[in-house]
Formats: sequence, C-alpha cells, structure tokens
Amino acid sequence: MTTAEDLAARVREGDLRLHELEEHADADTATAARRLIVAEQSGADLETAGAYAFDAADADPNIENMVGAVQVPLGVAGPVRIDGGALSGERYLPMATTEGALVASINRGCSVINAAGGATARVTKSGMTRAPVFRVADVAEAEALVSWVRDNEAALREAAEATTSHGELLDVTPYVVGNNVYLRFRYDTKDAMGMNMATIATGEACDVVEAETGASLVALSGNLCSDKKPAAVNAVEGRGRSVTADATISREVVEERLHTTPGAVAEINTRKNLVGSAKAGSLGFNAHVANAVAAMFLATGQDEAQVVEGANAITTAEVTDDGDLYVSVSLASLEVGTVGGGTKLPTQAEGLEVLGVRGGGDPAGANADALAEAIATGALAGELSLLSALGSRHLSSAHADLGR
Ligand code: NAP
Repeated sequence: MTTAEDLAARVREGDLRLHELEEHADADTATAARRLIVAEQSGADLETAGAYAFDAADADPNIENMVGAVQVPLGVAGPVRIDGGALSGERYLPMATTEGALVASINRGCSVINAAGGATARVTKSGMTRAPVFRVADVAEAEALVSWVRDNEAALREAAEATTSHGELLDVTPYVVGNNVYLRFRYDTKDAMGMNMATIATGEACDVVEAETGASLVALSGNLCSDKKPAAVNAVEGRGRSVTADATISREVVEERLHTTPGAVAEINTRKNLVGSAKAGSLGFNAHVANAVAAMFLATGQDEAQVVEGANAITTAEVTDDGDLYVSVSLASLEVGTVGGGTKLPTQAEGLEVLGVRGGGDPAGANADALAEAIATGALAGELSLLSALGSRHLSSAHADLGR
C-alpha cells in the first residue's frame, strides 16, 4: 500500500508533481503527503489543518492540491421568526466567523425582531447572469446583432436549455460599446447558485450566435455579468436573488431592549448608511451586511468570493406614524444555492440542515429562495443591532468586552 511518506519521497525526487498524487493513492493519503511536503518546505506545523472530519475524496470537486481543512468556528444566532415567501417559522441562523461579537450582535437583533413578531422576507427577483463579449466590425454590425438577438431568443433558449434539466433562460439583454457587444444572459437556476450552469448554457448559445451572425466571441464572460466584482449593474438589475427583509419594532422595545429611540436609529441610518455611503461612492448603503452574508455563506457552503455582490445592499430606517421603528434591508444580488458547489461538503450541508434547506426544494428553487430569506433576516438583525449600538454609543465597549 502506498503511504504518504512514499508519495512525498517521489515528489522530492521529481518523479511526481504535487497535483498528481490522487492518481497513485487515495485522497486522504495524497493530502497527507502534501502536508509533509509543505510542512518540510515552510516549517509550518499542519497537524491541526490535517485533523479534518470528512473524506478528502468528498472535497474532490471543491479543491485541488488539498492539504487539509481550515476550521472556522461555527455559532448560531436566534432562533428568529421569519415570515418569508419560501421559509416560514423559527430558525437558528448558522454563522461561521472569527469576528468576536458578531454572532452576539446578530443574536441581539434576532431577539428584538422576535419581540416585534418576526421579520418579513421576500425574494422579489431571481436570475443568474453570464454576459459574453462579442467583437463586431462596427456599430452597424452591433445594431444588427442586437436585432438578431431580439428576433432569435427562442433559438438561443433552445441551445442553452439543452445543457441543463433545471435551468431556464429568462432573457438576454444586449449592451453595445463601440464594436463590442455584450449579451447578458439571465437564467432561473432553481436551487443552484448557477454559475457553472449559466456558463455552460451560455457557451452553447454563443455557438449559435457565431454560426448565425458575423460576430466573434472574444470571451464567455465579458465582465458585464458581473461576477465577484463590485458592480452597479448588479445593484440595479440584480443578480442571483434580490431579497428584502423588514420589521417594525415598537418604540417600547427599541427603548427597553436597544437603549435608543426610533428617531436616533433613523437619523443614524440616513446620515451614515445613506449620506455617508453616497459621499464615499460606496455601492453598499448599509452598516455591515457583509458580516451576516459572509458568516452564513461560510456556514452553508456558498462561494465566499460572492460576498462582494452579496453585500450590495441598502438599509432603510424610518419612524412610523405611530412612533415605532420601521427597518429594512434589500440585498440586490445575493448569489446562493442549496445544491452544487460547496453545499455538499459535510459541515456545510449540516449548516443548510439547521435552516431546513438542504438540497433541492419543492418546487425547485424554493430552498435557495428560503436560504436567501434567512440570510436577509440575519443581515436585518445585524443592521438593527449595529445601528442601535451606535445610537446608544456602546459599540466600542461591546467589542472590547466580547471581541478581545
Ligand atoms: P454545480 O455544482 O456546477 O451544478 C449544480 C447542478 O445541480 C445543476 O446544474 C443541476 O443539474 C443540478 N441540480 C440538481 N437539483 C437541482 C435543483 N433543485 N435546482 C437546480 N439544480 C439542480 O453548481 P452551479 O450552481 O451551477 O455552480 C456553482 C459552482 O460554480 C460553485 O462551485 C462556484 O464556486 C462555481 N463558480 C463557477 C464559475 C464559472 O464561471 N463557471 C464562476 C463562479 C463560481 P442540471 O443543470 O443538469 O439540471
């Protein structure tokens, strides 16, 4: 039987490359061999990274050159009551983070939301996008391509949907810049975040465009998609799920539990989240939505780089006619899935189970909608808690007590 030491020796001798080890041993042995090599080269002790609790083979679709697993502490906030379009009831929100005070803060927001009867959450738009860029001769040809796409969406749909049993092409929006034409394909990807699905489907549709027009495909992604980059197109048009959560908190609860007033929270939201963000040229008009998004992404196996788009959110707060506090958070481009990608990894699948949204939903897409609603509610709890902490001026003391 090949041991990790045997494999490591063959790497040292130049007989094998680091990424070839799975061809000569099982995945756990290959992983152990790489740890030996890396530990030797760097002097790092990788013992803890090597103490992972799943079969390395299970992670094969998710990682190359595996040496172990990073363990991020996992906590829960809640349970919080959510009245959603796809998720209804009380849920603990799983959160993986190393930021002390974060879970405590969101937990405080959850308990205030519960005191108000729960949060309402809805997905208002859904669609994963891929926008290839085509080269054309000039603007006349650009316009001809745009017209052709409008007249031939059915042919593009047929080609795209032939690659998937779940995905549906919703629409194709053309954008012209000189002799560049970008076609922003938007798909209903059901319970998948859908980036692979949309890319594969768009690739087939691009073949049709090239065969039927004079346009040349330059790149399957022309960055108008826009994936893993801060982009206004996602803020305006949405990407993945556009989801909003809101709650109305009575004045008494704001005063007794949050030690501030509805007016103070609303003023801080306007001056900080809206005016301050505008002056900063920010795409996110919120206090710290990225915190809830990142922690729940890690806990549920989402693509962590898409926190960039997930944090593209606007928080509103206002005093109602009755003197209570209305607060909402709208996440324009939350890219989430409950199948595919990292969702199958054992600890991440458990995170989805905590929310009751593991795997495909009934109907398809319902679980990913429910996950989006849960994350939006976590973000709402975080906004409420932080804005209130600023209102009662105890933010730095909370961090000092809990985080250090
Ligand atoms: P995927 O793991 O590539 O595919 C998921 C597949 O699950 C779907 O294509 C679908 O197969 C199947 N499926 C089963 N039940 C389903 C249900 N209820 N709803 C929807 N699909 C269901 O996942 P993906 O979401 O398309 O892509 C996510 C991955 O893409 C992540 O690993 C992410 O890191 C990576 N990523 C890729 C790119 C890229 O450009 N390619 C960019 C960013 C991220 P059928 O299609 O056959 O129906």
